[in-house]
Amino acid sequence: MTDWTPDIERLQQRLDDEWLRVEREFCGRLLAYAQRRTGDLQSSEDIVQETLLGAVRGIDDFDKTFSFEQYLFGICRNRTIDYLRRKKARTIQVGEDDEGFPGLEAMATGGETPSAIVRGRELSFRARELLATILRDWVEETWEQSEFLRLCVIEGLFAGGWRNRDTWKRFDLRDETAVAGIKFRALKRLRQLAAVRESGNDLLSYLAAAEEGDQRLLDVDVRQVWNEKRLSCPARHWLARLVAGNLKEGPELFVRFHLEDMKCPWCLANHDDLASADRDAELQLLLDRVQESTRQVLHSTQRGGPGA
Ligand SMILES: [Zn+2]
Repeated sequence: MTDWTPDIERLQQRLDDEWLRVEREFCGRLLAYAQRRTGDLQSSEDIVQETLLGAVRGIDDFDKTFSFEQYLFGICRNRTIDYLRRKKARTIQVGEDDEGFPGLEAMATGGETPSAIVRGRELSFRARELLATILRDWVEETWEQSEFLRLCVIEGLFAGGWRNRDTWKRFDLRDETAVAGIKFRALKRLRQLAAVRESGNDLLSYLAAAEEGDQRLLDVDVRQVWNEKRLSCPARHWLARLVAGNLKEGPELFVRFHLEDMKCPWCLANHDDLASADRDAELQLLLDRVQESTRQVLHSTQRGGPGA
């Protein structure tokens, strides 16, 4: 079972069937995402409708360094924040539980995130792309080796900003030095992966400094890249297996950690969607409504697009 992703070119051509499939595939998880934040079904349905309209309107500017799901959730997140801001007469902390997930907002608004502003040491764009690549390589390699505890520990440290002393207790490790050892070996491996791809760039000296214990480096760039690129998010079928009770041992340890400790908002939305199969009738109504509104936009902009 693989996760379906749409054909961006067909979406850009405003083809009805491709957009229909997008709506069928993503309505449920977008609704789950919005509902977790607004706590209100009616408003969440409006947010989903606006999100899909926004997706149709913005598809010509789709940035291929992100996945389509990231694109969609980025819009959904902004619509949700807009809604919460409008409602803010009461004391709602907008985006409170999204801390550590600044990337999508930056992508969708083009604005600078707080961590981009406080970043002490600037990695070049190219070095950040390479950092993302080697982190992804590392995650895949670790997953293939079934080293799920290691994956949890590194995600906690790198993506969650955990300290060694919190981490060893959470995982019943011997002591802090066990965590430090895992971190040291991971950084060393990252440096090897970086060296294979390229030599002599600023990323290598950066990783060397992190290896020598400069925690600040991990706190900004690595954390941001990890969360922005969703490097460790399990594919949807892993979440489906968890919901069905078919996930065991290592993968279960990691997927639970990712949901319950890291509270990844995108995976939680997928999980909620999968866990509420009894909402089918409700979802169908929303789907009808969304399709009606996007069809109008699709047809009004068909054969449009830049340069046409
Ligand atoms: Zn995730």
